[in-house]
Amino acid sequence: MVDHIYNDEIKRIKEYAEENNIPIMQDAGISFLISFIKNNNIKNILEVGTAIGYSSIMMALSVKDVKIISIEKDESRYLEALKNIKKLNLENRITLIFKDALDVKLDDNFDLIFLDAAKGQNINFFNNFSRNLNSKGFIITDNMSFHGYVEKNEEEIKSRNLRGLVRKIKEYKQFLENNNNYDTKFYDTGDGIAVSQSKI
Ligand code: SAH
Ligand code: MG
Repeated sequence: MVDHIYNDEIKRIKEYAEENNIPIMQDAGISFLISFIKNNNIKNILEVGTAIGYSSIMMALSVKDVKIISIEKDESRYLEALKNIKKLNLENRITLIFKDALDVKLDDNFDLIFLDAAKGQNINFFNNFSRNLNSKGFIITDNMSFHGYVEKNEEEIKSRNLRGLVRKIKEYKQFLENNNNYDTKFYDTGDGIAVSQSKI
């Protein structure tokens, strides 16, 4: 997927994520995202939820002229992402913002907005950034299935927090389905991906 010289660095980033329980995108999800970016001629991306920069880096390395702005609210993850991006010489292509995404207002416009932060906040992220979408642009949301819990019966989910989160994801799904300004398709790939295209 990416050039050989980067492989060791990518491997190290993935290991760091694993060791520190950082929920980076699954391989299938990343492949889907990269193909999507190529097939739809995406040039400018806003990512909500950088973590340590893995998905941003994968997108930037795989599609040569893509530019990314990515937002992260956790300081240690933001710093780790900054380090990883510098190491791969991608500072010119990936710009990081260290802030809660709900406090960020941007003037830039994007072909793609990728939502991969707090799963219970997706309606708010969607509403905060949809005005930054180019005509016929896309909003892609990760973790629509949340490790399969969204498809389970509620009684099967023992943890109250998890039940709450799953309910929020279902609400978001409804929100997308009922949103007449967007056409949304759901994919089983990775941890479940929603692709919403602006009709205007
Ligand atoms: N996209 C990354 C994974 C992101 S994990 C990848 O695949 O490599 C989700 C991240 O979203 C976490 O690091 C979390 O700190 C961040 N996050 C959660 N809520 C946020 C918010 N309101 N604003 C900014 N970042 C947020
Ligand atoms: Mg995710």
